[in-house]
Amino acid sequence: MIDRVCDLEREALEALGEAGDERSLEEWRLRYLARSGRLSMLLRGLGDLPDADRPAAGKEANRVKLALESAHAAVSRRIETARLEVATSIDVTLPGRRGPRGGLHPVTRIVREIVAVFGQLGFRVSEGPEVEFDSYNFERLNIPPDHPARDMHDTYWLDIPGRSGQILLRTHTSPNQIRIMERQRPPIRVVVPGKVYRYEAVDATHETMFFQVEGLAVDRGITMADLKGTLATFARAMFGSERRVMFYSAYFPFVEPGVEVAIDCFSCGGSGCRTCKGTGWIEIMGAGMVHPHVLRGVGYDPDEYTGFAFGLGPERVAMLRYGIPDIRLFYSNDLRFLRQFH
Ligand SMILES: [Zn+2]
Repeated sequence: MIDRVCDLEREALEALGEAGDERSLEEWRLRYLARSGRLSMLLRGLGDLPDADRPAAGKEANRVKLALESAHAAVSRRIETARLEVATSIDVTLPGRRGPRGGLHPVTRIVREIVAVFGQLGFRVSEGPEVEFDSYNFERLNIPPDHPARDMHDTYWLDIPGRSGQILLRTHTSPNQIRIMERQRPPIRVVVPGKVYRYEAVDATHETMFFQVEGLAVDRGITMADLKGTLATFARAMFGSERRVMFYSAYFPFVEPGVEVAIDCFSCGGSGCRTCKGTGWIEIMGAGMVHPHVLRGVGYDPDEYTGFAFGLGPERVAMLRYGIPDIRLFYSNDLRFLRQFH
C-alpha cells in the first residue's frame, strides 16, 4: 500500500511539472486530488488493510495528500504571477499600431468633388455603359458616318461578328445624353462621370483611357443664361470664388451654339505663365445648348424644350489643381505618386 501511494506521488508530481496554465492545472487537480481522483481511490483501500499496517499506511497517505496539495498551490501561484506579469507589461496607454490604409486616387477625388458641386445645384448622378453603339456615341449626337468630327475621336471598334462597325468603346460620355433623354421626360438635370477611350498616341497630355464628367439639363425655358450661371458657379466652386469666367464660341456637333469655358489663371492671376501657356486663361470645359436635331431624335419637341450640355476632364482638373505635369502619372500605378494625395 505504501509503495502504491509513493508511486502515485511520484507520478503526480511529474505530471504537475507539465501543467503550464490554469486549465491544465485544473485537469491535474481533478485527476489526482479531487474526491473522485486517484489518491482518494487509493485511500478507500485503507479499510481492507490488516489493523497493524493501517496506521503507517494512513500516515503515509496523509503526507502525500498534503505534499500534493502544497505543490498544487505553488504551481497555481506561479501561473497567476506569470499571468499578472504579462498583463502589467502591456502599456495600455500606448496608441495602437496603425494598419496600412489605402487612399483615394486623385482622379476619384476630383470626380467626387465635381459631382458634389453639381449635386448642390440639383443635378443627380447617372452612369452608362463603356461599350456603346455607334448610334449612341455618334449618329444620334448629330455625328453621321461621314462627319469630319469623327476624325477627332480615334475610336476603338469591337470586332463582333455580324456587328462590324457598330460597337465601340465610348469615346466620350455624351452618349448618356441620349440614353437619359430616351428614358425619361424633362425636367432633366444629371451628371454622368465615367471612363472613355481613345485610340491615340500617348503623351504628356493624351491617354488612351481617361475620365469625363458629362452634364445635361433639359426643361422648358432653359437658356444660355442658365448655362452660364451654372458653369460659372461650378468653376468658382472648384477653382476659387474670385475666378473670372469666360465663355467663347466653340464647335461641337451636338450643341448649338457651342462654347468653351475658361477661367482666369489662378497661378499667375492673368499675367501669363506656364500653366496658362502665357495667355492668362485656362480652358476647363466644353459646353453648349443641346442641338435641336438631338432633341428631335429622342422625341422631344425643340420648340417646347431646350437644354444645355457640358463635358469636362477630371484628369485635366487634377493636373491644374495639383500642378501635375503628365497625364500618364495617373495610371502608371506608381505608389510614390499616388501616396501624395492620401
Ligand atoms: Zn498663368
